[in-house]
Amino acid sequence: MKLILLGPPGAGKGTQAVRISERYGIPQLSTGDMLRAAVAAETPVGLAAKDIMARGELVPDDVVVQIISDRIDQPDCKNGFILDGFPRTVAQAEALEGLLKSKNMQLDSVVELAVDDAILIERIEKRAKETVGGPRADDNAEALKKRLDVYHAQTTPLISHYSGKEILRSVDGMSEIDRVTSDIISVLESA
Ligand code: AMP
Repeated sequence: MKLILLGPPGAGKGTQAVRISERYGIPQLSTGDMLRAAVAAETPVGLAAKDIMARGELVPDDVVVQIISDRIDQPDCKNGFILDGFPRTVAQAEALEGLLKSKNMQLDSVVELAVDDAILIERIEKRAKETVGGPRADDNAEALKKRLDVYHAQTTPLISHYSGKEILRSVDGMSEIDRVTSDIISVLESA
């Protein structure tokens, strides 16, 4: 199963991706996690991405597309994967379509986690306080506002992009965590 979890920062994509990954035995591919690892390891990609991420802006499309292309080539992705935080622009979605085609793969579902902005802000403030080892560099009020603006401007166009392809399913991301998981599973299994 190859799926995209789509939703704003704080929607619960990471939490749900871990659960879906365990249920179906397919890896969670989070570009945010991969970029944070690159920043921590001070690789060339990490050094270039660090300040962009701290401001809450998007890393260039070609950088994340390359990261995902390399990751999908790993043997553990053979039976599927969950994309968490990628694609984030229509250009990334188009690049993904091209690279899946070139690898003879096909996307099965895009699941949107719908959450109101006011709830996102609350959740991210809570995450910033609770993260062991200190908050993420971009979990502060200014970067969060930027991340939400970027989401509305650059990522929400993906919703109509994928609904046009009839693979979009929407789940209420404001329900409690177990309910969101079971709703995701039921939309995946009825797809
Ligand atoms: P996330 O952990 O998904 O919230 O991502 C954290 C940050 O990493 C984002 O605010 C961006 O700066 C960067 N990032 C993650 N995924 C992408 C992507 N697909 N395209 C561009 N930037 C990304």
